[in-house]
Amino acid sequence: MALTIGMVAHDRKKPDLAAWAQAHLALIARHKVVATATTGSVLQRAAPDLPIKLVKSGPLGGDQQIGAMIAQGELDVLLFFPDPLEAQPHDVDVKALLRLVLVYDIPAAFSPRTATALARSGLFEA
Ligand code: PGA
Repeated sequence: MALTIGMVAHDRKKPDLAAWAQAHLALIARHKVVATATTGSVLQRAAPDLPIKLVKSGPLGGDQQIGAMIAQGELDVLLFFPDPLEAQPHDVDVKALLRLVLVYDIPAAFSPRTATALARSGLFEA
């Protein structure tokens, strides 16, 4: 069954997420990907054949849209690569997103190695 995978990365982590997606393209291509706008455009350049549904840019409400998808039961997995060394103007939205990840116990990864661990768990083969 196809999963809906959310992908979000802060600016300095976007190349990491794009590289991860490229390296795991065969695994994620069978699922639906939804990404915040700027992350999605970087992913699209790295993986032009991967269909990606875009929501708004994170600071303009995209994190909240991804959070709403979680609350509505529309998101199965979240790959979110935040930048721990840079303050974010939408920090409250980031916290709200993380909170909903925990409220709904959404499988999530926050870095390349945790994303790889999640991929190796067999989740994406569902
Ligand atoms: P962006 O949003 O993909 O539009 O940059 C990500 C974020 O900062 O939450």
